[in-house]
Amino acid sequence: MTESVVSSFWGPVTSSLDWCEQNYTRSSYVAEFYNTISNIPCILLALIGLINALRQRFERRFSALHISNMILGIGSMLFHATLQKVQQNSDETPMVWELLLYLYVLYSPDWHYRSTMPTFLFFYGAVFAIIHPLVRFELGFKVHYAVLCLLCIPRMYKYYIYTKEVAAKRLAQLYVGTILLGILCWMFDRIFCGKASVWYVNPQGHAWWHVCMGFNSYFANTFLMFCRAQQLGWQPRVIRAFGFFPYIKIEKPKQQ
Ligand SMILES: [Zn+2]
Repeated sequence: MTESVVSSFWGPVTSSLDWCEQNYTRSSYVAEFYNTISNIPCILLALIGLINALRQRFERRFSALHISNMILGIGSMLFHATLQKVQQNSDETPMVWELLLYLYVLYSPDWHYRSTMPTFLFFYGAVFAIIHPLVRFELGFKVHYAVLCLLCIPRMYKYYIYTKEVAAKRLAQLYVGTILLGILCWMFDRIFCGKASVWYVNPQGHAWWHVCMGFNSYFANTFLMFCRAQQLGWQPRVIRAFGFFPYIKIEKPKQQ
């Protein structure tokens, strides 16, 4: 009796989603252990990106992008650790904020009225944060998210085809590769959940989705930092730390 109380610190599941991983098997404080800890790479990669952006004085939009990734990772940890309705918003709301930031980073170089769109996107994000917990349209949320993703793709593609540097193109390819791999893991987890749960080891597809998406965001942000630095004439280069880990190094022209 005591055990059943201790085994779920956060009480019954109130979120609208409960993933394939069995709840409270590793700790009484963490509902889905692997789905929680698998967000750590996302947070660390975003932190590395943030330090790089700040150290070289990239525009603030990139710091905001990396910080939003960290918030997303932390929100996702809270959600999977608790499986509570309130914490579900701390995962889903930053997902939308992040895409609004991507829209800004991708399209702002073309805007004539510099403050109109950022103001609109800011209010859009704020209104969404208020409405989403109240309405909670499951299908609506997914469709809305997919539309925002689709809006980003044409410009991302344009940047890709206009980028000459092979190392930068590789970043965009890694971005596409990790999202495809992530979707595969996500779908495996959803479709084969019944079978995977009775295996000796559950492959934890959703946890791998988190890991893939952590790298995916890092590659996307790094590629966009390269493109933006090139627009500004900052002579960006893709450097590989320890021979494999990519980041952007810039050389701003000397002020007259
Ligand atoms: Zn998740």
